[in-house]
Amino acid sequence: MGTFLIIGILFFLALLLVFYLLTSNNLNISTKNTDRLSDIQKDFLEKRKKRIEVVRNEIYIQNYHLYSGISDRETKIITLEGTIPEIKIFENDQLIKTFRIEPKNDNPNLNGQIFECEIPVHGNFSVQIEGAIYVDMEHLLYKKDVNKEYVRFQPFHLSHRKENDEKLLGRGMIARGLHYFGHLDGGNIRLICVCDHCHESFSVDFYHAGFSDAQYFYSTHSKETTMISFDTFREMPNHYQQDIDENKLEELEKRLPKTQDGEFKYYNPFCCPHCLAPFNDYQKFKEDRPKDIYAHFYLNQSPVSYETFFDRK
Ligand SMILES: [Zn+2]
Repeated sequence: MGTFLIIGILFFLALLLVFYLLTSNNLNISTKNTDRLSDIQKDFLEKRKKRIEVVRNEIYIQNYHLYSGISDRETKIITLEGTIPEIKIFENDQLIKTFRIEPKNDNPNLNGQIFECEIPVHGNFSVQIEGAIYVDMEHLLYKKDVNKEYVRFQPFHLSHRKENDEKLLGRGMIARGLHYFGHLDGGNIRLICVCDHCHESFSVDFYHAGFSDAQYFYSTHSKETTMISFDTFREMPNHYQQDIDENKLEELEKRLPKTQDGEFKYYNPFCCPHCLAPFNDYQKFKEDRPKDIYAHFYLNQSPVSYETFFDRK
């Protein structure tokens, strides 16, 4: 009996020793991380205010160059206000972006619904807000799917790295960080983009054209999106195909039906619906078009299949 007690005590002491070694090692690691920061930066971090705050439908982000290399992230629960709620983003109390969350036809009033969102601010001063809208708190607590909808805001940089956003003007959806390579975006997520020209926001829905074994074409001002199966036109450019014979493409485009706003072309831009300025300017950035394999269309619309297009006329 006495031997068992001694073995038990020794085992307990060994556990304590292991625990001590593990925690002291962790402390060493975190000290090393802090060592990378300058004394000025350490002093600033000790005295700083909370970096990300939410007041009703407004998100406040504190910014200063000493945040370089330091990431912050908050998960916030926002009760949406108004039928078409607006989430306003402030940097050091200056309004920098407004994202309007337009309602879907089958969930027409977002007032009082709950937006649970992740707000990361990265060490390179980029911000990408994503989250899910729930009908009410009960749906959020139990993660119920009724009318649940995912929302991704267009990523942006704080003023210290504003030039990085300027480099992306007119680039494709992937280049602008609205989809990611290696990550498959399913249905039930919408993107909210902000026009480079008029700064109004607009909601965008999409299909994965690769999964439909189809290619897509936008009309002149992207008022219409059509999806055409590779069985219909084998000569259409494939997804990710970079060497495209533009003469052949032109011949093919002549066979496509006319649209409300002009014609379908492979390199037509996806436009801001408010001022019609190109948001994805594929004429200018042709290399981005094959990488953008998602067919986009405005919220509450849907792409028209090529076959039904002719029936419609
Ligand atoms: Zn616009």
